[in-house]
Amino acid sequence: MTELSVNQPGASNRPRPRSRSVEAEVLSLIASKQASSRSELASALGMAGSSISVSVQALLELGWIKEVGSGTSTGGRKPRILTLGGEAHYVLCADVGIHHVRVGAVTLDGSVETAVTYDFDITLGPEHALEQLEKILRELVDERNPRQLLGIGLTLPGPVNTAEGTVDSPSRMPGWHRYSVRAELDRRFMVPTCIANDANAMALGEHSAQPMDHKDSITIKAGTALGAGVIIDGNIHEGATGAAGDMTHVRVADADDIPCSCGNRGCLETIASGAAIVRMLSEQRADVGSILDVVDLVRAGDALATSLVRDAGRHLGEVLSAVVNFFNPSAVYLGGVMSTLEPYVAAFRSRLYEGCHPLATKHLIIQESQLGQDAGIAGVGRLTLDLAFASPIVHQARKEA
Ligand SMILES: [Zn+2]
Repeated sequence: MTELSVNQPGASNRPRPRSRSVEAEVLSLIASKQASSRSELASALGMAGSSISVSVQALLELGWIKEVGSGTSTGGRKPRILTLGGEAHYVLCADVGIHHVRVGAVTLDGSVETAVTYDFDITLGPEHALEQLEKILRELVDERNPRQLLGIGLTLPGPVNTAEGTVDSPSRMPGWHRYSVRAELDRRFMVPTCIANDANAMALGEHSAQPMDHKDSITIKAGTALGAGVIIDGNIHEGATGAAGDMTHVRVADADDIPCSCGNRGCLETIASGAAIVRMLSEQRADVGSILDVVDLVRAGDALATSLVRDAGRHLGEVLSAVVNFFNPSAVYLGGVMSTLEPYVAAFRSRLYEGCHPLATKHLIIQESQLGQDAGIAGVGRLTLDLAFASPIVHQARKEA
């Protein structure tokens, strides 16, 4: 069997990489309910039944999977049904924002448990932030069985280089550029660790919670900032330099010359994000200081706030219509607090349909995120579980346990 090193670059993000262990593939297929017997596993992986049986046996002995009765025979012997093992193994994940962090455990079947949001300040730099994060995560480990911890996953609100485990030129994270985040997590926790861009993780989490026939999707995070993640055939599409999905800094004519956090001018973010609406509204109203004030005003029917939110949704829809025409996804999922505002979503949807060829929107699903604020944790949890499933260190530890 071929096994990965703990942090092989990009290991968890590739569509069925050849270097990934068969055991990792088997666990993923069983966890996602894409296969529940040896013959289904063999068929999904294009392998001989005898080879699959060896891997299944190893996982049975580790207690990571178990047999739970027999299925229906299609001619020969009845197949034994396989599910994940009963042991409460888990990974701990943190979905980091600029001023908060949401942490939770993700179990082997991908469920998010006991997620909690804490105040947090990413702008104080990586040393301070990771110190604070370690304290929060250690408390969670202490509440569970430390021996069943399989890995740590972290999302960051900036461009993540998954191969190096660093952040590349983040516009709102001073001190983080090229800091070795994953190496520092490895040193602190001594288990497989994974870092991912927040929008990519959210996209993967959301995609995994949706029906499997939605093969390609885009998930938009419309909060104070804007972000998006692209899923192709069930996997994150990172692009050549990890920037795929970043429509935030597309220049739009209506944004004129407004300066953006990226250093450029006239980006989509300057007119379609929550921060942009707060800026525009606060120029005319003294009682607006945050996106939550905007949400309250729109829900109360304030005409100016509603009009600005509608314009923002329309700008987002215009940029996305080019993406949908080009990429032709099965679904667009909307997350973040802005997506809870009906005028924003309605304007987005109508502008998107207006700008797309009918064939691109014929079966297009546009809907609010199902997982809401847990989507990022679910996504990075899946990446971390994939990494843990493939880790020889974890397999060794389970053998010795
Ligand atoms: Zn920009």
